[in-house]
Amino acid sequence: MSQILNEVLSANENYVQQFDKGSLQIPPARQFAILTCMDARLDPAKFAGLSEGDAHVIRNAGGRASDDAIRSLVISHKLLGTKEWFVIHHTDCGMQLFTNEIMHELLSESLETAVFDGNQWKNPVKGNGSSFGQYINWLTFKNLEQSVIDDVERIRKCPLVPKTIPIYGYIYDVRSGKLIEVPKATEIGSS
Ligand SMILES: [Zn+2]
Repeated sequence: MSQILNEVLSANENYVQQFDKGSLQIPPARQFAILTCMDARLDPAKFAGLSEGDAHVIRNAGGRASDDAIRSLVISHKLLGTKEWFVIHHTDCGMQLFTNEIMHELLSESLETAVFDGNQWKNPVKGNGSSFGQYINWLTFKNLEQSVIDDVERIRKCPLVPKTIPIYGYIYDVRSGKLIEVPKATEIGSS
């Protein structure tokens, strides 16, 4: 068995032994949702004070307001009653380190993990790549604040999102753990 698989299953055994959340309902008790990045340094349960059953946390690379993220948010409100939403991007996000073109080129060369040398991405192994990546919008961004503003705006303008839902725009600082507001995003997202 892989070491990681072993570790996860053993951690879960411990979790089960002290588990007392078996009677929670499907709708989030605190009626809010967070859209944020999948970055391993972000732990929304900790930085936003969540317990099981409290809130929806929707995560993808960058915390971007993709069609699929919006699908989840609309379900979150329409069927499960959330009334306030957060868009939280973060400092030092990997999505600022490449572009659609770079990703397509890297994947065309090889599917093995690429290495970032602090300046550019390189494939240590070449061969067996795929050109499939050229059809995907990887939703990278250059400007962190602007990406929060753009995503809040995209959600706000979606015809399936009621005007009564406030959407707050924040940046999580990976050095301090602090949430920093992007006032222009929150203004656009106001209900
Ligand atoms: Zn990120």
